[in-house]
Amino acid sequence: METLILEKPGRLLAGDRAEPAAPGAGEALVRIHRVGVCGTDLHAFHGRQPFFAFPRVLGHELGVEVLQVGDGVEHLKPGDCCCVEPYLNCGTCIACRNGKPNCCEAISVLGVHQDGGMTRKLVLPARKLHPSASLSHDQLALIEPLAIGCHAVARGNPRAGETVLVIGAGPIGMAVIQFALERETRVIVMDINDERLDFCRRQLGVQLTLRADVEDLPGELRKLGDGDLPTAVFDATGSPAAMHKSFELPAHGGRIVFVGLFQGQLSFEDPLFHRRELTIMGSRNALPADFTRIIRLIEEGRIDTNPWITHRAPLAEVPGVFGDWANPATGVRKAMIHVAD
Ligand SMILES: [Zn+2]
Ligand SMILES: [Zn+2]
Repeated sequence: METLILEKPGRLLAGDRAEPAAPGAGEALVRIHRVGVCGTDLHAFHGRQPFFAFPRVLGHELGVEVLQVGDGVEHLKPGDCCCVEPYLNCGTCIACRNGKPNCCEAISVLGVHQDGGMTRKLVLPARKLHPSASLSHDQLALIEPLAIGCHAVARGNPRAGETVLVIGAGPIGMAVIQFALERETRVIVMDINDERLDFCRRQLGVQLTLRADVEDLPGELRKLGDGDLPTAVFDATGSPAAMHKSFELPAHGGRIVFVGLFQGQLSFEDPLFHRRELTIMGSRNALPADFTRIIRLIEEGRIDTNPWITHRAPLAEVPGVFGDWANPATGVRKAMIHVAD
């Protein structure tokens, strides 16, 4: 079975893997149709993703079709098209018991901790498959990256009319923006890339944007916020410098949600934190309810997925183009791998 294997950083090859066995109880055999490529995959390709062991089959943003279900699976039948919640959790640790499977102590993310979807077929736990009767395979593969933003906004929980700052207008930032706008907050987007800021204004309906390298950031933010700083700040950069700087940007009593991540220490001036009585939150992965909610929002036409996909390739051609996709100069927002039509 044709499979792309990342043998080691920089070396992505077309390989062969055995067909999966028939699904057991509670499982489903699926055919992969689409695999979205994201920053995690590109970091793995560059060897900058410390969770990875090699060789690894990447791919966690999946649009799939059910081929066969095992015993006890009632919500799916062959032919159903689904998105995949790729966060396989233990079900028994304290996070799982408290309804937070997204940060399970023993989490295993498809395409990260275990082999993922850059292949023809997979057997998956059926409860991780969320079907839709009308979404396209492309749209189904976009649900996971959207869910990252959906969950982050739920963590920050901004109200309508509140001023929200989103730092970083890459795919994670775009997802945060969509759900912040969906709550009718006043969204300011900050980035160092003018093209990305333009895109947010033209395609996402963002009205307020700011270059991250202006001299007096808090001052410029106050101008955009009618004299006040934003009460909710979302970092979608995963850049240590941007995250450090973000402590200067929330209003007194405000909060910061770190969506992006990096490996290392994050430091800040304690008075920036204490004087403002800030709340600092991490946001990791997403919850099952985020997946079902996003399916509904796209079905109802309340989220437009058209602006997302910029690049496409069939599975066999991916080794030849993956290096380009990993180069920011090629302007990739979301690359989509076609495994089956
Ligand atoms: Zn991703
Ligand atoms: Zn758990």
